[in-house]
Amino acid sequence: MNRVFNFSAGPAMLPPAVMLRAQNELINWRDGGTSVMEISHRGKDFVEMAEKSEQDLRDLMAVPDDYKVLFMQGGGRGQFAAVPLNISSSNETSLHMVTGSWSKGAVSEANKFNNAVVIGETTQREGKAFVPQPEPSDIDQRAAYLHFCPNETVDGIAFDWLPESGDVPLVADMSSTILSQPIDVSRYGIIYAGAQKNIGPSGLAVVIVHESLLGKAQSVTPSFMDYTQTADNNSMYNTPPTFSWYLAGLVFEWLKEEGGVEEIARRNNHKAQLLYNAIDQSDFYRSQVHSACRSKMNVPFQLAEPSLDDKFLSMADEAGLKALKGHRFVGGMRASIYNAMPVEGVQALVDFMSEFERTHG
Ligand SMILES: *Cc1c(COP(=O)(O)O)cnc(C)c1O
Repeated sequence: MNRVFNFSAGPAMLPPAVMLRAQNELINWRDGGTSVMEISHRGKDFVEMAEKSEQDLRDLMAVPDDYKVLFMQGGGRGQFAAVPLNISSSNETSLHMVTGSWSKGAVSEANKFNNAVVIGETTQREGKAFVPQPEPSDIDQRAAYLHFCPNETVDGIAFDWLPESGDVPLVADMSSTILSQPIDVSRYGIIYAGAQKNIGPSGLAVVIVHESLLGKAQSVTPSFMDYTQTADNNSMYNTPPTFSWYLAGLVFEWLKEEGGVEEIARRNNHKAQLLYNAIDQSDFYRSQVHSACRSKMNVPFQLAEPSLDDKFLSMADEAGLKALKGHRFVGGMRASIYNAMPVEGVQALVDFMSEFERTHG
């Protein structure tokens, strides 16, 4: 097999070392003669694995003791419904920053279960997408929570400040940025993430929730989506997606071995800088996102001559640079460079871009 670099936005590439380990122990996990997906989630081995994976995630993110860590089903969008169902009543308000496709999706879902209000949106500054702080006067202190997405996967828009929400708990959709850089968990009410970008296979969602937000679920909340039920049952109220959970655990171990979130953030900064430098240095490539709001995980870029898009994509694919087509909402190209993408992959892309410009510019 030729080496390829997979820039897919999600499900995304996983660390090769993790995939090899999973392959090695696939049919004989822990010398039990079966795979991890063929055994009871209530057995000693699986429970041990589950506990260790939670502890590893707590260590990696320095999760304080007064937070629960939940392994749930239904990915990121499952949480678009679970959050309002768990921490607001049907006549309460939820506040939403809308900075791109995903945070927009969260509003309409929340509005089924509470009164969802948009309080801040992406604007244009110097002709590029820019996210301003929401107006303090827009933040109703009686709101149940303020939802935002610090890294918009489709649009490549990110910001590293927190909305100033007073006493209103912050809820962050970190599906495409969790574990990519250190954060202070204690500033958040809830952090959630679908797994398939930076954690593991799809199907799983990780939820980190402050204990003060438990016990508020609406009476109609399905039990398997209820944070309190999930916490009380160690994320095994119903059968969890065992293989996804196991693989997430391997990714957490890998991340620890690589030096943790600080070290991975250093690499992520370097990777993003390489790619944005290549875009900024040339008139052939452009970014539509303001330099203050550029994602380090998802880098959309356009050709000055969009008629060359198909050629760029097919030649890149032949060169082993896979899945660079931009999201259908945005067009152009997008390189997703999550934790598992090595710097060599980004370097190969940058080299390809320079050669493509030389031969087509
Ligand atoms: C991928 C993604 C989602 C949706 O995840 P699903 O698992 O497909 O529901 C939600 N939010 C963000 C920021 C994402 O990147």
